[in-house]
Amino acid sequence: MRGRAQLYAKGVVAFVVLLGSWLILVVGQPGLWLGLLSFGGLILGTSLIAFTVMHDANHGAYFRTRRLNHLMGWTADALLGLSSYAWRVKHNVAHHTYTNVDVYDADITQVPFARLMPGQAPRPWYRLQHYYIWALYCVMGLRWQTVGDVAAFRRGSIGTSALRVPRRWDLAGLVGGKVIFVSWAIVIPMLVYPWWAVISAYLVYSMVVSLIMAVTFQLAHCVEEADFATAEQLAGEPRLWAVHEVETTVDFCPRNPVLSWVVGGLNYQIEHHLFPRVPHTHYPNIAKIVQRNAERHGVRYVTHHSLRSALRSHFRHLRTMGRRGIPVALEMG
Ligand SMILES: [Zn+2]
Repeated sequence: MRGRAQLYAKGVVAFVVLLGSWLILVVGQPGLWLGLLSFGGLILGTSLIAFTVMHDANHGAYFRTRRLNHLMGWTADALLGLSSYAWRVKHNVAHHTYTNVDVYDADITQVPFARLMPGQAPRPWYRLQHYYIWALYCVMGLRWQTVGDVAAFRRGSIGTSALRVPRRWDLAGLVGGKVIFVSWAIVIPMLVYPWWAVISAYLVYSMVVSLIMAVTFQLAHCVEEADFATAEQLAGEPRLWAVHEVETTVDFCPRNPVLSWVVGGLNYQIEHHLFPRVPHTHYPNIAKIVQRNAERHGVRYVTHHSLRSALRSHFRHLRTMGRRGIPVALEMG
């Protein structure tokens, strides 16, 4: 009961921060400092919606019925500009079922832009990936808001998971969501501000939110301590799905109450992968039980205790993956 109450209270805060910031910016037309503060509020509100509302709802953790969860998950369409229908395949099916498995998990398969795991073929430009990847993280959101969803529907798959073209209510949700998102993010602000100011602000806003979301997800899976696998490796040495999830995932900053509140338990990613349909507000308590049992059964359970160490591990992992496997000219004799 308390976990659910906390979840809903957080949802109210997220909506109030987002709506309040938008109203101040568009209706209030504030001066520089209040304007910048509200712009920050817009970014915070959107991140809170992504981490604490839409992620839980699309997993089926927000309400007890599927229809209400899909309705709340539609915040992805209307407020983030991403198709919740495609998200459920990309995230719930591809990423949560085949975590850190090459090709199957679309999150970890970013070739030819980056090499995120050992099974992927090397390319010379990956040697610089630990520098340029941050720019890629910034434009991922823009890609999904514009061509990403449509490209995935045309391809008919995300990773190796089938993605059917949405029909009826799903199609109405997709189109209606895009119209609402473009209206509040671009069209209505253009009635008040010059077009170039709106487009510039939108690009900055979208890129910052995208960077925050991408890094939060990457710190849990794309670090030195996480395990990676190819389908062939898994076929050769089958393992329990739950063990695979724990060993391919890393928790971070569990004792940081502010970060835990904001990222909605995504820092308790091990617990999230084991119990995605449980509201994230329960994860701190579940974590103690999972950790105890992982130790008892010899399952590797890794936690980064500071944001700094998690970021460093992500950076080092990118650098190692970029270097490894680059052909070296050998002189024999
Ligand atoms: Zn998830």
